Amino acid sequence: MKIQSTEAKKGEIEFRRKLAQQQLGGATLIADELDKAAIEQILSERMIKTYDQISALRTKGVCISPYAEIYRVLTPGGSMFFDEEPFRKILHINLYVRDKSYSMKALNRGAFKKAMDYFFAAQLCNEVGHGIVENDQISLKEWKNAFKPFSERNVSLTSARYITTPMYPRKNPLLFSIAYLLGGNISALCRKAGQIPTVFRPIHETLMCPVCREIGVESGVYLEGKVYKCSRCGISYPIHDGILFLFTPEKLHELYPELAKNT
Ligand SMILES: [Zn+2]
Repeated sequence: MKIQSTEAKKGEIEFRRKLAQQQLGGATLIADELDKAAIEQILSERMIKTYDQISALRTKGVCISPYAEIYRVLTPGGSMFFDEEPFRKILHINLYVRDKSYSMKALNRGAFKKAMDYFFAAQLCNEVGHGIVENDQISLKEWKNAFKPFSERNVSLTSARYITTPMYPRKNPLLFSIAYLLGGNISALCRKAGQIPTVFRPIHETLMCPVCREIGVESGVYLEGKVYKCSRCGISYPIHDGILFLFTPEKLHELYPELAKNT
């Protein structure tokens, strides 16, 4: 699997910055990216879908809170939920490069063009042009490895929009084989064994100093004035717009040089 390099992360920061200006402010900074109205349409559809999914998860007793995200995945009894991540297409040949996934051109494609693109076009995610690695090449084998820490795995595969089959158990080998060959989207609700603890610590009490972490020492950070400081090595970490930048000084300098200057 490909891993994001520092260059790719920098590309992502720059790309998102421009995109926010374009889609919030209305300036055209990147041609062939969605404008304000188009992105609002897509986001409102996604919000409705996510609302339905979250409501369904609540009825299953999954602890839902962005704040509890870390606990949710890591604790005993913790759960992981995601939807619409890609898995690799086996039956596919790249004959040409398709229009960017999120562009007016791609939105307005006809059924024939969509089918041709599915089998014969190289995927062109909007991020790739900015040096960002996209993970649409993750195989089902790699996904399976990712699910290993979980004792309960409800994973489903969707191919070509309408073919849906569970990953475990393989009730219908034919449907599974079709999905395996066609590739598509994977979604999952997985749970770890054990019971969720009843007492949670506030998130800022669980933060670790990344510099100390690099030498294998777990040392907490605490708020001092306008920065977080490590209680062991004394290195401070800036807060900007209410967001804590918990990077080693080298990483902060590489990714956010404008913030590194001020610390
Ligand atoms: Zn430290």
